[in-house]
Amino acid sequence: MALETTLREPVQLTDPLEVEPPAPAPGCDVCGALLKQWRQATEKDGHAYDLSHATDLAVEIKRHPHAWQKEKRS
Ligand SMILES: [Zn+2]
Repeated sequence: MALETTLREPVQLTDPLEVEPPAPAPGCDVCGALLKQWRQATEKDGHAYDLSHATDLAVEIKRHPHAWQKEKRS
């Protein structure tokens, strides 16, 4: 995970009551693992239920850099 002290773009805060699953990059193990944690954090009866953490995970999935995305964004 890269250390970043500044945000490149405004943080989009989502309504915790309407949390949507983030879209992980296909075939990316890191995104897959993050999504698994996100699902656990959004499971209301789960031991890891934590919507604030889920939001963080969703942001992390969105920001996870991939070679093919870099080409498009830069
Ligand atoms: Zn990824």
